[in-house]
Amino acid sequence: MGRGVTADDGATPGADGSTGPAAAPGPSPAGPSDPVVVDEPGAFGPPEDHYQRLWNPHRLVYIGGEAKPADGSEQRCPFCRIPRGDDEQGLVVARGERCYVVLNLYPYNSGHMMVLPYRHVSDYTDLDDAETVELAAMTQAAMRTARAAYAPAGFNLGVNQGEVAGAGIAAHLHQHVVPRWPGDSNFLPVVAQTKSLPELLSDTRRRLADAWPGPDPRAVPRHT
Ligand SMILES: [Zn+2]
Repeated sequence: MGRGVTADDGATPGADGSTGPAAAPGPSPAGPSDPVVVDEPGAFGPPEDHYQRLWNPHRLVYIGGEAKPADGSEQRCPFCRIPRGDDEQGLVVARGERCYVVLNLYPYNSGHMMVLPYRHVSDYTDLDDAETVELAAMTQAAMRTARAAYAPAGFNLGVNQGEVAGAGIAAHLHQHVVPRWPGDSNFLPVVAQTKSLPELLSDTRRRLADAWPGPDPRAVPRHT
């Protein structure tokens, strides 16, 4: 069988000028004549907490009310509903007479607690004197308890007043108590928008509730 003609046959590269290097220039790389592109500042990500969370244990306890309520009413408020239920289910760490302590469902760190009045009030200035005193005392107790259970090197304490200031549930005042350790803000939040949390919330709640000061963990902690 004779050899057929292939694409390589019968043509001499360059003989007709069609197979040589392109004579016409292609698109040129960016040069001084190109228009300047200005990035929108908003394109660099929103300021809100859009971290995903990487939970190292493979189960997670959720309770009702993790979603943001449809409105700011007392009827839809998870912080009003939580104390009416079971401590374990609600992740309640301690109960006082006027305030209680609960774990944050979306913690910045392990042991992230919130101290709140039972009463559905939004503003720090809405607290009466007794609530103000107990909120402060329970914040101190929460710090002591976290130190006993986790030995953090520091804390962030704070109240976000209003949605514009970052409050997730602005209608019900809550004071954050966030334990901090050296290096606890690692590459994951920066690179992967993910927080690594080494302990289940249910385990954290039990450790803190067990370490809460006083013989009765539900009693108002006393100054020491
Ligand atoms: Zn409420």
